[in-house]
Amino acid sequence: MNASPEGSNRKRGARLLIVGPPGSGKGTQAKFIADVFGIPAISTGDIFRHHIMHQTELGVRVKAIVDAGDYVPDSLTNELVAQRLSEPDAANGFLLDGYPRTLEQVRFLDDLLAGDGRLEAVIRLTADEDELVRRLTHRAHEQGRADDTEEAIRHRQEVYARQTAPILDVYRERGLLVEVDGTGGVDEVAARIREALAARGIGDAGDTAAA
Ligand code: ADP
Repeated sequence: MNASPEGSNRKRGARLLIVGPPGSGKGTQAKFIADVFGIPAISTGDIFRHHIMHQTELGVRVKAIVDAGDYVPDSLTNELVAQRLSEPDAANGFLLDGYPRTLEQVRFLDDLLAGDGRLEAVIRLTADEDELVRRLTHRAHEQGRADDTEEAIRHRQEVYARQTAPILDVYRERGLLVEVDGTGGVDEVAARIREALAARGIGDAGDTAAA
């Protein structure tokens, strides 16, 4: 369909993670970046919300946890991700959004990826706390997410700082961490991410053709 036979890194696949505090815009960026690379953006939060909305057995089990802004137990989350990554569309790569979030999940993902295909980069979006709260409050009005109450927002940020920040150290030590300023417009941040990845030989920031 698309005549880009040689040269272009677009749609070549990649194995990426995106990490950032609640409200950092990682979901939006994940979809964009995944599209650029022709890989699925897999958001554990979206998957849980989908199950909750459809009141599946899993959804019923995790609803109270997710609504409170706590983490779903690792065993459940890991199982879900293993299953999702085994689907055909993830064979060429994936961008995981919101996973791993704990050191136990990091270990699980390491085992899962052992052999075929290690991670290429971990994108970390940074943002100012005040801006984060502003964005989340705005989203609460627009989307009415049950975990976007002020109390749950604050709690999620605390949980993030305590549990998820340490995983960044692991990936930093492995030389995989790509830190990107997440403030500004969606396009601006997206361009920054692509440039940061391109600087590491992942994708091509100059290729802006949209599919
Ligand atoms: P945000 O990062 O904006 O808070 P997400 O959509 O990534 O939102 O996640 C929403 C909720 O889903 C989390 O607060 C948590 O309850 C649950 N969740 C998502 N990913 C994980 C994970 N990797 N481990 C445990 N719980 C998770």
